[in-house]
Amino acid sequence: MGLFASKPAEKKGDLLYAWSTTPEIAEKGECGGVVTALLKYALEQKMVDAVLAVKRGQDLYDAVPTVITDPKNVVGTAGSLHCGTLLLSKFVKNYLNGAKDKKIAMTVKGCDLMGLIELAKRNDVNLNNLLIIGVNCGGSVSPITARKMIKDIYGVDPDKVHKEEIDKGQFIIEYEGGHKGISIDELEDKGFGRRSNCRRCMYKVPRQADLACGNWGVIGEKAGKATFVEVCSDKGADLLSRAIKSGAVASEAANPKGIEIRGKVEGAMLKLGEKWRRRDFTALKKDPWKIIERETARCIKCYSCIENCPVCFPALRSAEKKSFMVEGGSIPPNPMFHLRRFSHISDTCVNCGQCEELCPMQIPLALFSHAIRVEGDVAFQPKLGTVPYKN
Ligand SMILES: Cc1cc2nc3c(=O)[nH]c(=O)nc-3n(C[C@H](O)[C@H](O)[C@H](O)COP(=O)(O)OP(=O)(O)OC[C@H]3O[C@@H](n4cnc5c(N)ncnc54)[C@H](O)[C@@H]3O)c2cc1C
Repeated sequence: MGLFASKPAEKKGDLLYAWSTTPEIAEKGECGGVVTALLKYALEQKMVDAVLAVKRGQDLYDAVPTVITDPKNVVGTAGSLHCGTLLLSKFVKNYLNGAKDKKIAMTVKGCDLMGLIELAKRNDVNLNNLLIIGVNCGGSVSPITARKMIKDIYGVDPDKVHKEEIDKGQFIIEYEGGHKGISIDELEDKGFGRRSNCRRCMYKVPRQADLACGNWGVIGEKAGKATFVEVCSDKGADLLSRAIKSGAVASEAANPKGIEIRGKVEGAMLKLGEKWRRRDFTALKKDPWKIIERETARCIKCYSCIENCPVCFPALRSAEKKSFMVEGGSIPPNPMFHLRRFSHISDTCVNCGQCEELCPMQIPLALFSHAIRVEGDVAFQPKLGTVPYKN
């Protein structure tokens, strides 16, 4: 126990450092393994029927959602993967029946959580059956960008990298023969770094989860070995208290200086998000409809943007899918195809970036829908006669 050791967190609002007491989990976990230990504990104690977490797939750049029912397999999901392409919310709806008939403990980033909340509003997910462990997220990197960045900027073969992490503003790789860290600011100046939607994201600490966990604010001897946990709900407090009491998790009160640092880092990240919004939206505002028309002219109408959007599909019944309000049989579709989709999600887009990330034609769809949601009331009102309404 360290200098600030005291009572375990038992109520909403508590701030503490926590870590797994199981050496294997502490070792494999990103920052002491408390998240993995809590997921395992919840499954062992039958608080939930299954755990939904993420594990490494083909390689380091492939993050795969995985459903676990045997507690001993939970350890395989420990560690943070910053280069995957995934959103867990739609997975819950599509493959776990929206958690309507099973209790599930899951890890989420802010975007996963916002997607879940939107789905819950549509009765597609039952939040009451979810035990949600949030991880802070400063942003993730697209796998294709990550590979290119590692090859071109780091001068390292991406297949030789066995670990990546984001720490103190740097993207760090460990590879056969060494390790190298470069600041994310520098990478982003060179056109690499985080996804553009992550740069604009201002939901860094997922406080609508039951617990919000991250490495910001962990200082002193616990740095790198423990996670800063903010207790956000009674459900989260109950899970944590029981896990601490059982000995699966150890904790101490967060260092006051660490709390201050965490607040400052979060504030700085929010300012950075604002800066990116200004930058991206200002460029778009110059001639939004012309830019949208030009970019969407590459569309091959594969429907990936619709299929992968956590808020778009409710309107997509099969009959509508055929036409989606535009004449079928030709590409690119009439621009109304996209404009109708943007308007459909204009009040609910969570800026998860899946539409853009999974677009085979690299159309900046997330930028368009995010801009319309955030600034649509003024800047993106079409001027009469400028939108090519043909239908
Ligand atoms: C993409 C990403 C970015 C992060 N950025 C920050 C940050 O900027 N600041 C900060 O304070 N903390 C950040 N974190 C949280 C931090 O890295 C640790 O996850 C946290 O401190 C918990 O540590 P742990 O040892 O208890 O986690 P572990 O016990 O290692 O558990 C990690 C959990 O995260 C899940 N996971 C891994 N990758 C993903 C993914 N891509 N999407 C969803 N779930 C995933 C794993 O399946 C596991 O359940 C980030 C995490 C991720 C996944």
